[in-house]
Amino acid sequence: MKVAIVANKLAKTQVIKQTLLQKLRDNGIGVDDQYPDIVISIGGDGTLLSAFHDYQDQVDRIRFIGVHTGHLGFYTDWQANELDDLVVSLLSDNDQAVTYPLLEVKVQFADTAKCREYLALNESALKKLSATLVTDVYIGGEFFERFRGDGLCVSTPTGSTAYNKSLGGAVVHPDLDVMQVAEISSLNNLVFRTLGSPMIISPNDTVKFIPEQETEFLLTVDAMTLPQKKIAQISYRVSKHRIRFAKYRHNDFWDRVQESFIGSKR
Ligand code: NAP
Repeated sequence: MKVAIVANKLAKTQVIKQTLLQKLRDNGIGVDDQYPDIVISIGGDGTLLSAFHDYQDQVDRIRFIGVHTGHLGFYTDWQANELDDLVVSLLSDNDQAVTYPLLEVKVQFADTAKCREYLALNESALKKLSATLVTDVYIGGEFFERFRGDGLCVSTPTGSTAYNKSLGGAVVHPDLDVMQVAEISSLNNLVFRTLGSPMIISPNDTVKFIPEQETEFLLTVDAMTLPQKKIAQISYRVSKHRIRFAKYRHNDFWDRVQESFIGSKR
């Protein structure tokens, strides 16, 4: 078993990283930043997102573990004071994993024949810097609506508690192999019409955006903002790849939602 550690730059996190490295050494667990079996992120959900992108080309093999240094996160379920338990779990690891859906993002640029593919763990959003975004939306190959507004966000189930939730999207249990489309400030009046509700899309369907003007758009994939380019179309579908977490103990999804957003139990 070889592990890699991805940590944010905060001094407190760096101390936790050094403590964990020492405990790994003491227990004969090797560190390999290039080809690890397990990637341990130390920080918040944002740190786990960067760890995922650092190792996304090995996503089918690697498992992730999230240690949080502040509040409980959606991808980070170990606390910094549980490092001894974490090392014991690593020592008795038998490849147990829980997997969650990812989003495939395929971008066709207007000025080249090139197509680029990305994987999102949380979401991908299409926006325009100024003026209204106008884009045709296709679901399963069929025209669905012409969207006018600030943008559209397509999220995974684990990403449903992030940007999607701020947009009024539904929180989706990550056992469901689906993606969700949420509107960002759509224009709805007597002339322009969109559905106005978030949509949960089946794993068999592709969602395609064909923007009206070939102007420059802002396209995000998780924390990344892709360089502004003229985009001819973007298609989204539930990826055949999944993210794998080392599953050493049970964490109930709805408990985590309750703790993160509601807080107090009766
Ligand atoms: P950031 O602005 O530093 O952090 C955004 C916040 O989102 C952090 O509090 C982060 O938690 C939290 N978060 C990330 N993934 C989450 C998830 N799956 N469920 C619940 N909360 C989650 O940005 P960042 O660290 O680079 O992360 C990029 C993410 O920020 C994007 O993927 C997007 O989802 C989110 N975002 C949200 C909004 C919004 O809600 N209006 C706008 C833009 C982007 P931690 O503190 O634990 O890291």
